[in-house]
Amino acid sequence: MSETVKYFLDESKIPKQWYNLVADLPAPPSAVLHPGTHAPVTPGDLEPLFPMSLIQQEVTREREVEIPEPVREIYRQWRPSPLFRARRLEKALDTPARIYYKYEGVSPAGSHKPNTAVPQAFYNKEAGIKKIATETGAGQWGSSLAFAGALFGIDVQVFMVRVSYDQKPYRRALMETYGARCVASPSNETQSGRDILAKNPQHPGSLGIAISEAVEVAAQRDDTNYALGSVLNHVLLHQTVVGLEAMEQMAMADDYPDILVACTGGGSNFGGLVFPFLGAQLRGGKKVRVVAVEPAACPSLTRGKFAYDFGDTAHLTPLTKMHTLGSTFTPPGFHSGGLRYHGMAPLVSHVKDLGLIEAVAYHQTGCFSAGVQFARAEGILPAPEANHAIRGAIDEALKCKAEGVSRSILFNLCGHGHFDMQAYMDYNAGKLVDQKLDEGELAMALAGLPSVRG
Ligand SMILES: *Cc1c(COP(=O)(O)O)cnc(C)c1O
Repeated sequence: MSETVKYFLDESKIPKQWYNLVADLPAPPSAVLHPGTHAPVTPGDLEPLFPMSLIQQEVTREREVEIPEPVREIYRQWRPSPLFRARRLEKALDTPARIYYKYEGVSPAGSHKPNTAVPQAFYNKEAGIKKIATETGAGQWGSSLAFAGALFGIDVQVFMVRVSYDQKPYRRALMETYGARCVASPSNETQSGRDILAKNPQHPGSLGIAISEAVEVAAQRDDTNYALGSVLNHVLLHQTVVGLEAMEQMAMADDYPDILVACTGGGSNFGGLVFPFLGAQLRGGKKVRVVAVEPAACPSLTRGKFAYDFGDTAHLTPLTKMHTLGSTFTPPGFHSGGLRYHGMAPLVSHVKDLGLIEAVAYHQTGCFSAGVQFARAEGILPAPEANHAIRGAIDEALKCKAEGVSRSILFNLCGHGHFDMQAYMDYNAGKLVDQKLDEGELAMALAGLPSVRG
């Protein structure tokens, strides 16, 4: 039996700054545009939704952004997170590859999301905000923000995508335990929700719709803001604690990744892991191959258009240039709720367009078989989203085996799957099927992209 190798940093190694990839890019990402006028948004346009400190982080070109000491204090509860060498998985695969994973399931909510929920709640509290409205897919973001809201005494209202609300009642229970209010989206509480329900009372919901509802609630009140768990620059910035720690831990292992792998829903756990490594490469360091893994049923990076689009279904959000399936596209209700988003982080889209990263898409049954193989070797039961990264990492390790070369592979195990046991029960019972996206609906959603010059 090969032993577990764990690379553990002490608390003094929690990063003091987040890393901003924009500082090292050869070209900055395209401007964010106002949804009505199509002119570049100003900080003032965003003020009804976000505190100024986060708006500044959204647009900054500084390489380093200081992490406030109260945020580092809270990070100490689960950071630095461990990095493991997957020796037993390597053995099971009989591969010469060296497989490492950074494990973010050690946070209170069980994923990487508290890395940004905590600073977002902190900056909102500083700005005197009493309530935050947000959306959630599988419930990971909602429970992370509920946790952070409880720490800072901020009320949290969560619009949870209907299909996940029904599939994952325990995530809702967790949010309510932290003191948040959780409603199924589309809901009757907003105009955006009522409009959708009038057309289809059985609508399964989507992240795009839930975002519309939360933005609508936040825009209406001065003491209420909105928070997003992925996609935006400041969210990816906060997540870079993952990659910054991983760089130190790979040095402890006396190794450096040849290949980085992470799953992509909105792009935050991916950006968090890979941006510090990409930055080092852009500053003249070692080149890394970077693989983004997305679901074949919601494939924004591999099938979407790189174009300006809205972040939500009701078109309340600004326009960003990103890989998108169209804001009206509703992905089928597969189990990785966190990956059911029509768009992709503008920064991740931009580095894809610059040729700095690759993307692949996998169906869910292949991902679950990888996740089960991983659990049997390493003992940790991964979130369904993370199974995509595991599939990608295993496939790279099997390529190493076929070619007879040893490469170093690092992937982000972005969360545990303890609240996703229904998905594993379905998989174990042979009931999980690969859902095809509706090609007609995709074509229609893409045809409906807003026309924006530039
Ligand atoms: C939310 C979530 C995702 C998808 O979001 P990203 O911003 O792409 O990271 C993936 N995995 C887990 C465990 C999540 O909670």
